[in-house]
Amino acid sequence: MAETLPAIFFGHGNPMNALMDNGYTRGWRLIGERTPAPKAILSISAHWYVPETGVTVGTAPRTIHDFGGFPPELYRVQYPAPGDPELARRVQGMLAPLPVKLDSSWGLDHGTWTVLRHAYPEADIPVVQLSIDESQPASFHFEIGRRLAPLRQEGILMVGSGNLVHNLHAYAWGRRMPDPYDWAVRFEKEARQMMLAGVYAPLIDYEKLGRDAMLSIPTPDHYLPLLYVLGARQQGEDIAFPIEGVDGGSISMLTVQVG
Ligand code: ZN
Repeated sequence: MAETLPAIFFGHGNPMNALMDNGYTRGWRLIGERTPAPKAILSISAHWYVPETGVTVGTAPRTIHDFGGFPPELYRVQYPAPGDPELARRVQGMLAPLPVKLDSSWGLDHGTWTVLRHAYPEADIPVVQLSIDESQPASFHFEIGRRLAPLRQEGILMVGSGNLVHNLHAYAWGRRMPDPYDWAVRFEKEARQMMLAGVYAPLIDYEKLGRDAMLSIPTPDHYLPLLYVLGARQQGEDIAFPIEGVDGGSISMLTVQVG
């Protein structure tokens, strides 16, 4: 039997990280080097946020440049990892009777490839993306993570890609690195304590956590991928934060690794 693989939530931040060599990207690379080689990767990205649950089923998922206003070299980046239709069907089966669409239109969005380009630069590990159903409550996403957790014992690396704190209104684009906002620091600290203690209910019910949480999570898309990873954590399993930092004052780059 294959070694149980971790489930990892990556804070992906600015798409330009795809081209950068910085503390975050070097951390992503190290994780790729230190993690036992996965048979395939199942990625849940903040940027496939649609009113249904879908999995990419193509054998050659396209690289999607789903952003605007960046330099041309970022649009030239390709991440030609193969797909894994068998894994897509396995995910569909595990989530039944929930309807899961086998999707041939999406591919790999920048939530996935900006990180994987550093973690797995050879792009030789098959990647399947699972969409986030925007019409469902946070508890649904945690539950999907729980139900897909057995994949970790089959050599599948579960990846969530978003940001624990993600407030673009407060983000300092292109300016010198400002100090993190106090509400961002407080919320990240509170969330880390809950994760370490394995206390997930308030993280699922985050809308009741007050002002710091509301400023940190103005929209759910970048936060929800974390809940899939937390849902995949087994009783007593290690949880660690191998990469940390706050970018532009209001984007937490925290990586959360389970197992
Ligand atoms: Zn993003």
